[in-house]
Amino acid sequence: MQRAYIGRFAPSPSGPLHFGSLVAALGSYLDARHHGGHWLLRMEDIDPPRERPGAARDILRTLERFGFEWDGEVLYQSRRDGAYREQLERLLRHHHAFACRCSRREVAAAAHIGTEGPVYPGTCRRDPPQPRPGLAVRLCSDHPEAVAFHDRVCGPVAQWIARDIGDFVIRRVDGIFAYQLAVVVDDAGQGVNQVVRGADLLLSTPRQILLQRLLGLPTPRYAHLPLVLGEDGRKLSKQSAARPVRPERPLEALLAAYRFLGQRFPDTAQPATPEEFWPLALEQWEIARVPVSGIN
Ligand code: GLU
Repeated sequence: MQRAYIGRFAPSPSGPLHFGSLVAALGSYLDARHHGGHWLLRMEDIDPPRERPGAARDILRTLERFGFEWDGEVLYQSRRDGAYREQLERLLRHHHAFACRCSRREVAAAAHIGTEGPVYPGTCRRDPPQPRPGLAVRLCSDHPEAVAFHDRVCGPVAQWIARDIGDFVIRRVDGIFAYQLAVVVDDAGQGVNQVVRGADLLLSTPRQILLQRLLGLPTPRYAHLPLVLGEDGRKLSKQSAARPVRPERPLEALLAAYRFLGQRFPDTAQPATPEEFWPLALEQWEIARVPVSGIN
């Protein structure tokens, strides 16, 4: 028997909802509802220095005004420290993770450059200090083979984490749990089995799959949507003060996001209001029409 579809949208409250996040919200929502599934909302407010006061509330209000309806309560990562700590300790106990006392400068001096910058040279993995506050914790990535998966939009993806990424940080020096760990713990905790999100996270997915395997958690199916790029060709992000969507003109923004995802309406059925948009958009949704992002 097929399990019920459980999808989610997981914005970081670093600013108001911009067009790129609207695209991720819309794609994940339509795919979930088209399959008769649940759509959960998770506020990724785990990194206070990057957050803007009031942004979480603002994002929720904007989603509501656009007509998104989520299931259950919003999950806030800022309240999940206990769950992250438990899994971190498990990884440490099984020697899948180690405390690291290397400074950024030491790492940079000894590392080669991988997909996302310096690849940790393994210094503390060989002789790790006792984990304590003030030390980062890294995941051991020394797996002999690549982690591969099939993305519903981008097709086959494989990454050799040991070579291209290295032992990545799962708890930072400042004590904050890293995104990679938090997202894996929460997707599993919320029962998420379908992840639809922006392609900026395509190359984070193998790290998340590795963590799922080490923690004995199920791996969801993944679909990575094309990124909305700014005029400078870089990803729109809330931090770079990308233009927020205008909640007072919902239909215009929804149609633009829908078209961006390669979707269309039949000539005879063009929605004229947001109320008309939703049922039509749901009926017509086809993930096969979503264009592949040029990121991989
Ligand atoms: N919080 C991330 C962001 O806003 C998304 C995380 C995810 O979907 O896995 O970019």
